[in-house]
Amino acid sequence: MKYTEIMVRYGELSTKGKNRKTFIMQLAQNTRRALSEFPAVRIHADRDRMHLILNGEDSQLIIPKLEKIFGIQNFSPSVQVEKNVEVLKQSVQEIMKEIYTGKETFKINAKRSDHQFELDSNELNQVLGNAVFDVFPEIKAQMKKPDILLRVEIRQDGAYLSYETLKGAMGLPVGTSGKGMLMLSGGIDSPVAGYLAMKRGVEIEAVHFASPPYTSEQALQKAKDLTAKLAPYVGSIQFIEVPFTEIQEEIKKSLPQGYWMTVTRRMMLRLTDAIRAQRKGLVIINGESLGQVASQTLHSMVAINEVTATPIIRPVVTMDKLEIIELAEKIDTFELSVQPFEDCCTIFAPPQPKTRPRVDKVEEYEKRLDIDGMIARSLAGINISQIDSSTPKETLEEEFSDLL
Ligand code: ATP
Ligand code: MG
Repeated sequence: MKYTEIMVRYGELSTKGKNRKTFIMQLAQNTRRALSEFPAVRIHADRDRMHLILNGEDSQLIIPKLEKIFGIQNFSPSVQVEKNVEVLKQSVQEIMKEIYTGKETFKINAKRSDHQFELDSNELNQVLGNAVFDVFPEIKAQMKKPDILLRVEIRQDGAYLSYETLKGAMGLPVGTSGKGMLMLSGGIDSPVAGYLAMKRGVEIEAVHFASPPYTSEQALQKAKDLTAKLAPYVGSIQFIEVPFTEIQEEIKKSLPQGYWMTVTRRMMLRLTDAIRAQRKGLVIINGESLGQVASQTLHSMVAINEVTATPIIRPVVTMDKLEIIELAEKIDTFELSVQPFEDCCTIFAPPQPKTRPRVDKVEEYEKRLDIDGMIARSLAGINISQIDSSTPKETLEEEFSDLL
């Protein structure tokens, strides 16, 4: 039978007290955006669940999109049928004919929110269970952990049947935790960090430092392609390309090489923070993982972090490389990340960066640079593009009628 509706169960947001309404509205909006290719789908969000009325759209195309929306615990595609006992019996039989292979146990789980309906839930379980035995006399019913759990819901607007529950992406709806700037290189770690921040509800904008002609067009494209891999979790992501050539040349020219890396990172952080302030972000997110390279020792982090009081979220900081790679594979960024286009850090990498840079020395060396001027010139040259399409603006009000 063709699915007519998908019933979505909220994740953690159901515990959010008075923020609940905001969370649900954000989730509905994110869902609308993720399903913008399916304009016929109607979204009805109420306090406990969200219903997607498919209006003829193909559930097989919609399900993979839903699986990426944070804030969804799980969802059940379902079929709406007439509220009539005979129709229900036939539909249950039809579904069982489609899915029963001769081996599974089953259970009917009926619920009735329309108390006018002629049978109560116990009676429904009986009658519909018997309808299954009529077509499969040998089938076994099992109350605990049946292989097939056929849910039947009698609601005001119709009867709904479902037998599959698919796992959602969990987390919180993107946008409910505010906005952060993701420092996105072309590597393995930062896209994973972005994914994990979005999972906890953070809306991200990608900040990428490029140093043409030292870094190639392909390296830039790679960062954009990585951003495109993250976009389906939210609909679209702003990609902010920041010119970094002058800064890297100046650092290389004026400072001892042991301090190139630390000062480079401090400049990146200053710039990201300035962009964050302009664009009203709350935090910065990066892909640092403790001890992975010289810039990611605790001493380095302290020396780099010193330029700002803005919180820096480091979602992968305590993860091993292999754990990060596992996630990168899951979100399909790994293949792209290992493409060999060098980024600005690789090209200007000093042979022996300090793993314990001294803050007093860093500050002394930085006096040789026109920090404010370089930052101003870089900011003047940023280039912002939107990766992936966003939703056509629609009025969502009708869809929230139950909430408002
Ligand atoms: P990644 O795999 O994310 O590139 P990495 O292990 O290669 O990380 P580094 O190159 O030391 O680590 O970078 C540490 C973090 O600094 C990155 O995760 C990223 O957040 C930020 N970063 C590095 N290079 C850039 C860049 N060109 N543009 C934006 N952010 C960058
Ligand atoms: Mg890197």
